[in-house]
Amino acid sequence: MTAGGHGAPRDLGAGRDVRRSGCMVVMYHYVRDSAATPFPAIRALSPELFERQLDWLQAHYTIVDLATLQSSLAGEALLPESAALLTFDDGFIDHYEAVLPVLRRRGVTGTFFLSQNACGPEPRLLGVHKIHLLLASLGAEVFGRAVLAECALSPARAAGSRTVFGADRWEEADDRAIKHLLNYELPYQEADRVLDALFSRHLGDAAAFARGLYLNETMVREMSAAGMVFGYHTRSHRMLSRLGADEQADELRDGVGWIRGLTGQSSVPFCYPWGGPQTYSPVTVRLLHDAGYSLAFNTVRRRAVIGQDHPFELPRLDTRDLPPHAGDEVDALTEERRSGVPVDTAGGEA
Ligand SMILES: [Zn+2]
Repeated sequence: MTAGGHGAPRDLGAGRDVRRSGCMVVMYHYVRDSAATPFPAIRALSPELFERQLDWLQAHYTIVDLATLQSSLAGEALLPESAALLTFDDGFIDHYEAVLPVLRRRGVTGTFFLSQNACGPEPRLLGVHKIHLLLASLGAEVFGRAVLAECALSPARAAGSRTVFGADRWEEADDRAIKHLLNYELPYQEADRVLDALFSRHLGDAAAFARGLYLNETMVREMSAAGMVFGYHTRSHRMLSRLGADEQADELRDGVGWIRGLTGQSSVPFCYPWGGPQTYSPVTVRLLHDAGYSLAFNTVRRRAVIGQDHPFELPRLDTRDLPPHAGDEVDALTEERRSGVPVDTAGGEA
């Protein structure tokens, strides 16, 4: 952690211009040893690789906290030369069991984004995770056929998905095509109905899964007391760009008060579900601002540039963009130099 929150005047600090400093924001989801769970096919970062990535990060970067980033965005403080912020999405219990002890031992903090439906008093399994669990349990081909049968789409209609990913993806039962159908194409009411039916048929009680999958409020309070920072990730993890303004407002309304009540934080950040630029709109940004959020992260894959990036559209790299996954830091930085065009315009969250 740095002393960035001490209000250093912007003209101090080795003559560097505060407006040109950057921050590499790293995004994590599942952090677990998947092979040791009932769902070994869930794509997760293993705790061992997490530690190795932190070794690499701490050798090359200074891990800062959210307050330090916020001070730099406000022009009140300089970030260290190579600053990195750790963010963790979706409120997984992994973040209590596998991440918290590691961050505490290393003396650094992370910022954790929660959906209230998942981590509130009555935990409900989010649709995005029903898809992950069903895919991991059934495999893409069986799950894809089950989805088609359940929503009574003819194969001819489903073939429309091909135009998104190229020919024959659907026949190959590419999991991205199934996710696209459920997340982008089907009306939410229908997608929810299909997922509810398939989940109870193949995996059982979704509420019981939710209690085992997500942080609860007691864990959040304990993590907060240990210096971790929390933010909101919508109420139900729907894609905001698919919702009308009133529905978006409903997804965003309760987050600031809920997180403040749990943690005592005055500043509550936000991150967009899925997070690609197509998953929210200028209306979303205005609603976030009006609802009192302090800043927001998307999943455009490059480093954030202070003074250039909008505080409600701060980009993030995925853990997989960095060592030990990517062979070299170059993988990520080359991307950055190529004019900031994201490698994967669909965004980082699968
Ligand atoms: Zn998410």
